[in-house]
Amino acid sequence: MLDTPEKQAWAAHIEDVVLHPPTGTINCLAVNEKGEISGVTTTSGLAWKLAGRVGDSPIIGAGLFVDNEVGAAGSTGRGEENIKISGGHTIVEMMRKGMPPTEACLEACQRVARSYNNDKTRLRRFNITFYALNKDGVHGSAVLWGTPSRNGRRPSYAVHDGVEANLVPCAPLFETAG
Ligand code: ASP
Repeated sequence: MLDTPEKQAWAAHIEDVVLHPPTGTINCLAVNEKGEISGVTTTSGLAWKLAGRVGDSPIIGAGLFVDNEVGAAGSTGRGEENIKISGGHTIVEMMRKGMPPTEACLEACQRVARSYNNDKTRLRRFNITFYALNKDGVHGSAVLWGTPSRNGRRPSYAVHDGVEANLVPCAPLFETAG
């Protein structure tokens, strides 16, 4: 019961955190001048997770997948959705067939959307981002929702090409969760 001003203040705070969960997971992919590929995904898990929950980050083939012949891929966001489509492995396999990294990441977003029959009302409740890098150093990323965060920035990822670092926009499957 929200019967006191203190509880009402907490309820507003909790709602805000649920709608804008703190993030911090990092998927980092690299290729060196010899074409050797490496990758890592660090996480403390999804905010407000159930005790004992295992997200996608520690699951090889979901939160991270590296194949030294092809490239690497990983993800941040709602891990359950990624596990259902084995996102990291799926993206690398699409790149193996010649798909560019951004298109492969968009295809992964489409598979997530298809798990909900493209029902935007249900898809609006979460977001997920995929990142990919191929052996030639071509990189890409796609996000389910391109909605700007509270600081007004659209989803982007950081790239260092050996000389300088830049933020690159993630390709959105859907423009804004509205
Ligand atoms: N993907 C992580 C998980 O589901 C969370 C995150 O990216 O913030 O555990």
